[in-house]
Order: sequence, then C-alpha cells, then structure tokens
Amino acid sequence: MCFVGAVAFQEGEVAFALRKVARKGEHRSHKSAGMVTYDHDLALPHIVRGLGMATEVFTPEGLEELKGRIGLAHLRWATAGGLERANIHPLSGNFQGKPFFLVHNGEISFRRALERQFATYQPEVTSDTKFFCALIETSGEGNFEDALRYALRIVKGTYSLIVLYENTIYAVRDVTENRPLYIGTKEGVVCIGSETLIFRSLGIHPRQVKEIRGGQLAIVHGADLSIEWKTFEGPSDIARIPRLCLIEVVYSMHPANITYGRTVQTLRERLGWQLAQTWRPQADIVVGVPDSGVAAGKGFSKGSGIPYEEALIRYHQSGRIFYSRVDERRDMYDIKYDPVIEKLEGQRVVLIDDTIFASETIRAVIEIVLEAGAKEVHIGIPAPMIVAPCFYGTPTSSEHRRLIAKDHGGDQQRILEEIGAPFGGRVKSLTFLPLGDVKQAVVDTKPMVDGYGDITTRNFCDACFLGGKRHIPVDADGYTM
Ligand code: SF4
Ligand code: MG
Repeated sequence: MCFVGAVAFQEGEVAFALRKVARKGEHRSHKSAGMVTYDHDLALPHIVRGLGMATEVFTPEGLEELKGRIGLAHLRWATAGGLERANIHPLSGNFQGKPFFLVHNGEISFRRALERQFATYQPEVTSDTKFFCALIETSGEGNFEDALRYALRIVKGTYSLIVLYENTIYAVRDVTENRPLYIGTKEGVVCIGSETLIFRSLGIHPRQVKEIRGGQLAIVHGADLSIEWKTFEGPSDIARIPRLCLIEVVYSMHPANITYGRTVQTLRERLGWQLAQTWRPQADIVVGVPDSGVAAGKGFSKGSGIPYEEALIRYHQSGRIFYSRVDERRDMYDIKYDPVIEKLEGQRVVLIDDTIFASETIRAVIEIVLEAGAKEVHIGIPAPMIVAPCFYGTPTSSEHRRLIAKDHGGDQQRILEEIGAPFGGRVKSLTFLPLGDVKQAVVDTKPMVDGYGDITTRNFCDACFLGGKRHIPVDADGYTM
C-alpha cells in the first residue's frame, strides 16, 4: 500500500509540488519517501530518498537542489523487500546509457523465476520492483517504450507504475486495475497519483481527474505536456478484467477520494446504511471509530434510526497505528482516541469500524469506551471478515500481525468471544456485512463523475475475504511477505 505520484510543469520547478502531492498521500504510508526530478537543461536527474514521512525526507532545504520541470515521488509501505535504504523508491536502471526511474504500488507475483533469472542484478535491492528495471534493461528493444512494453508482457501481479526516462513520464496500471491510479491536467500542469485528493493541491478540480484504467499506458511528454494514450496487453494468461482492491475502498483510501466515479465517503455511508438493513441491536447511540469508521457509522445511524454521536475523537497527530510496532500500539491507542465521557456514560453503544484485521484496535476502542462509562457495546463492521493474507500489495497481515477471522475459521461467535473476553459480557454482539452486499452497495452508490457505468460487482478483488488466490494467479512459492 504505497503512494505513487508524478508532476510535470510547463514552467518552473516541480519539487515543491511533488512534496505537496506526497503529503496528501501520507495516509498510505509513513515508512520511507523518495523523489526524483529531471533537469532537462543539464540532462541530469536529482534524487532524494530516506526513511520516514514525506515531511521528514522532503525538507525545503533539500528540495532547493532538486531542479527540473518533471519528476516522480513515492511513499513506501513495503510488502516485498525490507525497509533498507536500497529498497526506497524510486528505483533506477539504465537504458542505452541513460538512467530511468520507477515508482511502484502493488506486488509482483511469480517472483522465484525472476529471482533466478536476475540473481546478480542489483543484489542490494530486495524490493520486487527491481524486476521491472531488470527487464527494461535487458529487453534488447531499440526504444524505451518498447522496452517497458516488454517488461509489462512478462511481469505478473499488480502495479500502478510510473516511470521517468529523460523528459518523459510513462504511467501504467496493470490489466486487473487492482491498484488505483489517476491523472489530472490543467493549463501548464500534468499530475498523476494514487488518490484524487492530491489534485486539488495543484489547483486541478477533482471532477477534471480521470482514472488510468487497467491496461492503459499514458505517456506524458515533458517538452509540451502532450499526453499520448495507448494500451498494452500484459501477460497472455492474465484476464483483462478490472479487480479493484476492495480493501482500498473500505479502508485504505482517503474518504475524499473518488474511485470509479464514486466518493469514498458516500460509498462508506452507504455500506453503513446497508448494514442497518439486516442488523438492529438494542442500543442508544452509534459511534463511528475515527477516521474510516465515521462515514459508515453515520450511514448506519441513518439506516437504523439510532442517533449518531461523536463520542470518540481522534487525536490527529498520532498517525496510523497500522504502521506501528505491535509492542508500541497499546500506548498509541490511548494517544489516538479520546472518549467524550458525557456522551458515553450509561449508554448502550453501537461501535462501527471499517474492518477487523487482528483484534487489537477494536479491543482497545472497546476498552476506552467502556472505561468512559458506556454500559455495553455492539460491534458492526460494514465489510466482510478478512480470512486470508493479501498477495497483491496490501499489508493486511504479516508475521507481526494475525488475522483474527482466519484463526477462527470465519466463525463469528468465536471471534466475538475472543474480542469480548476481557470485558465480562459487556460486548453484546458482532456482525459483518457479507461480501455480496458490500460489492452491491459500492456499485449502487451514485457516481458523481460520468464514465464508470460499466462497473459491476465482478470488478473488485475479494481474495482476502474468500481465502483463495482467485483472480490474479500467484505463485505461493514466489511470495514472501
Ligand atoms: Fe485488496 Fe484483499 Fe484483493 Fe489484497 S486480496 S488486493 S487486500 S481485496
Ligand atoms: Mg481505523
């Protein structure tokens, strides 16, 4: 779950614009950040890379050095390859004596074969993304676009990929459309990135933004900012069917993002409303767990008639706990959430959260709410249970994080018992929204942007909810978290 971005200007330097854009993508990763700009006058790239958040790595002093009207930025949450400095994007390679740079969100499957083929290539880099570089370098093709196409014919897996070679940007989204990617333009500016909320920071109205669809290649020429739209085939055995990551929709994306023409906030309200159609616990108030449970909480309140209360406030300097070490997390929950005691005392509370990965977040929230004086709680999750790890680039589980639904074989009663164990019977019920209802609710959400009428319930990846690796073939042998 990374952030990729690119900016090209007709006039002026892009480094500070890339910083702005990257800061808007920081909810997607805090681990490392990198930027490259291309100085056309000197035919020289300028690079900055480091561990930490965009604001820490992209310092104003450092960016003064990054000349150029075109560039890329990346924020990394590693799902393949560790956090070592060598793995920080942009990664780079060499084509016909000139460097190219590449930022990637997603995960390459069938890596064992590529690892064998390129055993000696950039040995210090363990990020799967390096195989794009290796394939481009060794393609034997006469021009860069053909070399990139060669790599795209071979690589299987998920990617939203942006490449910079000389004064040109190549932006592609794999044929399964699994990872988001958008492009927006205005006079003298082209911007590309993982979420639509970045565009407003450059004065591009979100309604003017469109998705780069699966199998599309957008080539942005730095000289005049013209965009060539092309398609590519991808590997012959990968079906060209959009399968957008459903976890992106219910959890990862910023609520202001627009995906498949639908605002994520509206879509999550709809999910909460949908949950209320089949589940009505005896309760006095509904509380959404901030931030991503709030929209669904409000939707649930509308659907159920149980009043919504902002009884849990998020302290915004706390960051996303998902990215923290397990042993640090309990303290971080206390920092992150503040109960509004007056609203909770004596109340029967429905807590709505976006998803449950392990059980620690929801347990911590229950504890905070009960300690604040709530009488009892019910837990509503407007998403299905996650019963399998992701092989496509979302860090839903790792050796440090279990999946509670997987451990209990998807048995809702056992999950409730584990979550409620420390609270002496005060956690009264737990429910999830079935997969079919989630997809239908997303499709039924009215688009605010035209052009996505073709989206159906088939167009979402659901592998981690089903426990299978169904849509995009994965070589389990080649998979390393
Ligand atoms: Fe997203 Fe789950 Fe599919 Fe991974 S398996 S891409 S997290 S829906
Ligand atoms: Mg949350």
